[in-house]
Amino acid sequence: MSAPTLPVYANEAYTDFTVPANRQRQQEAIAAVRGDLGRQYDNWIAGQATQTGQWLESVNPSQPSEIIGRHAKANADQARLAVEDAHAFFPIWAATPVEQRVEILVKTAAILRGRKPEFNAWLVLESGKSFAEAEADTAEAIDFCEYYARQMLRYASPDPIVQMPGEKNELVYLPLGVGVVIPPWNFPLAILAGTAVAALVCGNTVVLKPSSETPIIAAKFVEVLREAGLPPRALNLCVGSGSEVGDTLVTHPKTRFVSFTGSREIGLRINELAARPQPGCIWIKRVVAEMGGKDAILVDEDCDLEAAATGVVQSAFGFQGQKCSACSRAIVHEAVYDEFLEKVKAKTEALTQGAADDPGNAMGPVISAKARQTILAYIETGKSEGTLVTGGGSSGEGYFIQPTVIADVDRKARIFQEEIFGPVLAITKARDFDHGLELVNDSDYGLTGAVYTRDKTRLEKARRLFHVGNLYLNRKCTGAMVGAHPFGGFNMSGTDSKAGGPDYLLQFLQGKSIAEKIL
Ligand code: NAP
Repeated sequence: MSAPTLPVYANEAYTDFTVPANRQRQQEAIAAVRGDLGRQYDNWIAGQATQTGQWLESVNPSQPSEIIGRHAKANADQARLAVEDAHAFFPIWAATPVEQRVEILVKTAAILRGRKPEFNAWLVLESGKSFAEAEADTAEAIDFCEYYARQMLRYASPDPIVQMPGEKNELVYLPLGVGVVIPPWNFPLAILAGTAVAALVCGNTVVLKPSSETPIIAAKFVEVLREAGLPPRALNLCVGSGSEVGDTLVTHPKTRFVSFTGSREIGLRINELAARPQPGCIWIKRVVAEMGGKDAILVDEDCDLEAAATGVVQSAFGFQGQKCSACSRAIVHEAVYDEFLEKVKAKTEALTQGAADDPGNAMGPVISAKARQTILAYIETGKSEGTLVTGGGSSGEGYFIQPTVIADVDRKARIFQEEIFGPVLAITKARDFDHGLELVNDSDYGLTGAVYTRDKTRLEKARRLFHVGNLYLNRKCTGAMVGAHPFGGFNMSGTDSKAGGPDYLLQFLQGKSIAEKIL
């Protein structure tokens, strides 16, 4: 089979929802999806549609009485079977020509592109994303498919290595085996799709365990993969509670690697469990763990303060602050502190909030009642740790929390140090730029960060000393684009795998060096 010639990679263009016709089309797609709510969905284990009689109910966080669907819930026996069948099918999938695997990713991207309004609609209804946030999620899923397809072709024909006299020397990349892929709910399509297809295109078989909060989007994406030609046994869909099936999947001796994205607590647990030798396991399991953040934006005295306030508010409250890259700390030079607070307060209070399916709302709900409770508890703590500038409230049937700003927060405060994963921004005063840098780095995490300044020397200093995996200069700290901003964090933010970057696939491949004596 000859390698497909793919056009040069370009990011998927976003639909502009300020255009009334585009808004209208999205609203029609939501109405159509509403006609399809409440259905039951199967797991796919060992190539078979599977149920256990137990169901996970998925609801609309804007309106929890609306049932999005019921997904079959796997148990530990099914999780075990999924790994074992993925292990049995691995040699077949690994031997499938690279070009065929690449073709499936390109077709997956094409199907998603053709069904963008529908996928956006599922995202709006199941995860509470605004139109624009849903569009970015679907577009990123398309980008991951297109980008990893091209990267795999690169690894399939690696650069020549040094040739020893009298020998033919080669380096080839082989898949690893069974990968357990565990994504979070906050990019229920993009992260799930990206982590699954990256492992698959390398020739690994996958057991995909989506978040219990967003199983229906997972089911819809798996339908697309199958329509694109993915053999059913190459990917097991194993929806189930993380606490029930997680340990079984991670500790199974046939699991070769785990690709996890989620909280620090669960990521560290997986890392520890995977490292423990199990009888019958003949490898050191690889763990990719992309975890939380406590991301900071440093606002200097000499910057475009208006742009900085806009960047902070967008980064803090886009998708209700439920992004690992969200700005949860603004560290502001004392010379502009009061003026900055006023600007942030005004911009935050101008944000409209309500049901995600109304395009007039900039902000929707948080994901669940449990998340709302945790975030509100943090806001209570925050009120005693600083000065409430705006927000703090919660109302309505949906899981709505007002965008909340708390100023004058000490560096040792819990709301300065702990990931809240909701619409809560802590603001702290810095004496000068160097003190500001010291404060941004005072964290266990190191995922994203940004600096607003016009001073070139200070920008250079930030390049060297701001210790994060994704640094942004004079722009917001969210919105990483596949190919342009390879994504992954330092310290307790994870293994710095750089999703959407040229090295990402190496984590799911192993290099084999072959030297043949020329006779
Ligand atoms: P989470 O609670 O850690 O869950 C993530 C995934 O792990 C879910 O599929 C969950 O399944 C599963 N899980 C739970 N317990 C498990 C166990 N014992 N063994 C194996 N899997 C288990 O995180 P989340 O609330 O979904 O997502 C939010 C977190 O993700 C935040 O900390 C955020 O910063 C982080 N995040 C990081 C990145 C990044 O690139 N660094 C990107 C996005 C999000 P259940 O839903 O069934 O429990």
